[in-house]
Amino acid sequence: MSKELEQISELESRKVAEASRETEWKQPSFLREMFLGNFRLDLIHPYPLPAEERPEFAAFYNAMKEFLRDQVDPVEIDATGEYPEQVVEGLRKLGAFGMKIPKKYGGLGFSNVEYQRVMQLLGSVDGNLSALLSAHQSIGVPQPLKLFGSEELKKKYLPRCAAGEISAFALTEPQVGSDPARLQTDAERTPEGDFIINGEKLWCTNGTLAKLLVVMARDPKSKKISAFVVETSWPGVKVEHRCHFMGLRALANAVITFKNVRVPAENLIGTEGKGLKIALTTLNDGRLSIPNGSVGTSKLCLEICRKWASERVQWGRPVGKHEAIAHKIADMAATTFAMESIVALATEMSDRGGYDIRLEAAACKEWNSDRTWEIVDETMQIRGGRGYETAKSLADRGEVPIPVEQIMRDYRINKIFEGSSEIMHLFMAREAVDKHLQVAGAMIDPEKSMADRLAELPKISAFYASWYPTRWLGWGQWPRYQEFGALATHLRFAERNTRRLSRQIFHGMIAYQGKLQNRQAFLFRLVDVANELFAIAASVARAYAMQEAGHPEAANAAELADLFCRNSRRKVLHLFHELWANDDVRKYKVALRVLDGKHAWLEEGILGLSERPQAEASLKPEAVQPSNPDPVPVPKVRPIGTH
Ligand SMILES: Cc1cc2nc3c(=O)[nH]c(=O)nc-3n(C[C@H](O)[C@H](O)[C@H](O)COP(=O)(O)OP(=O)(O)OC[C@H]3O[C@@H](n4cnc5c(N)ncnc54)[C@H](O)[C@@H]3O)c2cc1C
Repeated sequence: MSKELEQISELESRKVAEASRETEWKQPSFLREMFLGNFRLDLIHPYPLPAEERPEFAAFYNAMKEFLRDQVDPVEIDATGEYPEQVVEGLRKLGAFGMKIPKKYGGLGFSNVEYQRVMQLLGSVDGNLSALLSAHQSIGVPQPLKLFGSEELKKKYLPRCAAGEISAFALTEPQVGSDPARLQTDAERTPEGDFIINGEKLWCTNGTLAKLLVVMARDPKSKKISAFVVETSWPGVKVEHRCHFMGLRALANAVITFKNVRVPAENLIGTEGKGLKIALTTLNDGRLSIPNGSVGTSKLCLEICRKWASERVQWGRPVGKHEAIAHKIADMAATTFAMESIVALATEMSDRGGYDIRLEAAACKEWNSDRTWEIVDETMQIRGGRGYETAKSLADRGEVPIPVEQIMRDYRINKIFEGSSEIMHLFMAREAVDKHLQVAGAMIDPEKSMADRLAELPKISAFYASWYPTRWLGWGQWPRYQEFGALATHLRFAERNTRRLSRQIFHGMIAYQGKLQNRQAFLFRLVDVANELFAIAASVARAYAMQEAGHPEAANAAELADLFCRNSRRKVLHLFHELWANDDVRKYKVALRVLDGKHAWLEEGILGLSERPQAEASLKPEAVQPSNPDPVPVPKVRPIGTH
């Protein structure tokens, strides 16, 4: 490993993340307000039910559905590990590579709501196709160009993307996973103003097929990261290796190297040094694809379980009528309703404008991917041995080839890419404490002198003298929200516990001060509370809107919303309890001892990695960078945030 990489400290990683953070909140955000103790129901109520479909979109959607039904065989795609050419061509003909691209650049000009309906559909069909289309237009060239590209760049590349030239997003490197501070790919200015890119990118989805890439590279001197459109046909761009995974077997995923690749100045996206900000902003919207796709996957699981648990009889009853399985199915339905409620809301907000949805998008990504993974796991349990058996094997012996085994393999990655579950928690936790850092950050900044800190005291006292007491006030009891009928109690709970959440954030700041940033277990519980409260509020608002609209399924929706909220409330109370009654410190100490090899004795009795020369080599410290194990390093007042 290079000396330079060795020297990148936790603090520097935080600085890079902080520098790429959007610091301002110009538009309202439901979750941001929640962290401050304000239950802003008005931001999500009346809940936006889906509008009547535009005929143009309906025609596309139906054609797409027919195409997926008649032309796509997910089991075959999995078995061959390739995208069939006629499938890719068929998608091109449908215009699927240009769904989000405005019409004036040759795309279909769909809204985000429309695009995400297609993502939900794909989530129920094949993860490989979801990844192909999503890597291309949720994070690939079209999205950052739409948001930040010059008119010339848009004119040059968007029509090509819309016509089906596949694009990809290249940020990750062997040493850059969740931590962009370690980025090594260089983009050096030439005297003429162009850039020369050198470096290596890892796990670039669509990389083996792509004609166009968004590449993140840094100035070797200033270390500032910029984003570029790079054509794979240019000299010096090389696909070194196609990566293969547990699932998504057809993924055209590549290691790509760049050797003295000359990139014209006009291919810089946005301004120099703003690459990470561009990547993060791109992801605000782009991140909604996974949670929308997850709803599709969960709905399919629900259908699989509903049908199988009704027809499979064991011990004298359909398995779905044994309580253990019945409960799983009820939870699955209620959670799927809640997942759809939050992500449909966030997607609608992104189209409507006037909201800042970066927290809601992160919440949807984290919450829906975690919940869907649980649902996939339960689906396998309910299908029993048939869940574990491959679809082909089921078909070969004359059973319906329901590919739960493949769904599980394909789905798992969603908790890792486009911001892992841990990184989503960190991202949200950073914003949860943002206001407190703004107001009182000086008090816990070790770089500030005592005089500086004292000078800040009047401002801090003035803020908290009014803010803190009012976090205890407010009416979250009957008859508040009684227009919501039987569901009102859940909104009252959300209201009361929003204030409690903000108090707990504040208490955490007081108790841990600068060390709070390292108290991930504490912070993650706060984020989990916020996500549950968001899901409660969105589910109730949606059920109510359906009732108001005279929706034929309104009563069914209310039943699911009610069950979801009951479950969720118990989780919230448990999370609050665990904030202060836990084994966090003990666990961390044990973990450090495990990492230090003190419990290696427990690994006796296996064929260990040290006895397998190849595996051992790949885990050498040069290959894997341990993070700073210090539980409470003296921090600068730098946030919790990262990618
Ligand atoms: C199939 C696949 C497709 C991909 N497609 C793309 C693509 O198209 N473009 C692209 O640029 N990248 C892509 N990636 C990369 C993907 O985004 C990364 O895998 C992801 O960012 C995580 O990085 P990592 O795997 O190196 O894990 P690491 O960052 O090494 O993290 C390892 C574990 O530690 C956790 N962790 C890391 N930092 C912290 C922290 N500060 N606090 C707590 N926990 C932490 C992580 O959540 C994870 O659980 C892809 C990866 C895969 C496997």
